[in-house]
Amino acid sequence: MEISEDIILSFLRRRHYKCLQPLAALIDMDGTLYDSMGNHADAWHRLATELGIESTREEFFLYEGRTGASTLNILFNRAYNRDATSQEIEELYARKATYFTQMPSVKPMPGAMQMLDFFKEVYMRRVLVTGSGQRSLIDRLDRDFPGAFTPHMMVTSRDVKCGKPHPEPFIKAMEKARVRPSQSIAIENAPLGVKSASAAGVFTVAVTTGPIPREELEKAGAAIVFESMTQCAEMLPHLVLKMFNISMS
Ligand code: CA
Repeated sequence: MEISEDIILSFLRRRHYKCLQPLAALIDMDGTLYDSMGNHADAWHRLATELGIESTREEFFLYEGRTGASTLNILFNRAYNRDATSQEIEELYARKATYFTQMPSVKPMPGAMQMLDFFKEVYMRRVLVTGSGQRSLIDRLDRDFPGAFTPHMMVTSRDVKCGKPHPEPFIKAMEKARVRPSQSIAIENAPLGVKSASAAGVFTVAVTTGPIPREELEKAGAAIVFESMTQCAEMLPHLVLKMFNISMS
């Protein structure tokens, strides 16, 4: 795969940026660093079924990136025409989190460590940007990806009022890294996450790691789509080099 200059030029044009200077990588967790989306979908589907709310396992892939509260509200509005109360959210999200921990163990995505190492080599700040509040995975990060994210370089569901697809999580991440949108790239696997990063003005690298087709990611605003995290990790050095070298004349 060759990375064409047009990808970068059309992004610059669209955003009215003169050039890009990637200093920070804003990185999603579920489906990007961890092969966890199947388990999340199963846990949500189990919860919905127990509540007597009709759902499909597949729909939860599309909600990926939403906060737990937001996903619960989709289910509640479908079944009861109302949002869940804060007590219901607390209780039911805890139940979903428990089901998730009972599922087969989640593995780091092949290529994820290679990607994180590359960002380190080129002195790019690494910030985690997740809609998840699932402590079981957040707590594992440092074991699976040692030193990749210091605690103040993480944006989780606790740090934001509005989750993805709202741009707030990525705006918060840029504040933490002290960079502007033209100095950032985002790594995402889900349409809502891509929307969120794009709305924040960030060059968004999307990766197809689940059942969602690349067209959905392009429609959501991805600047480039890779077909796996392994491919993403291999191509990033070329992409970042090109980003530094191309500017609008
Ligand atoms: Ca994700």
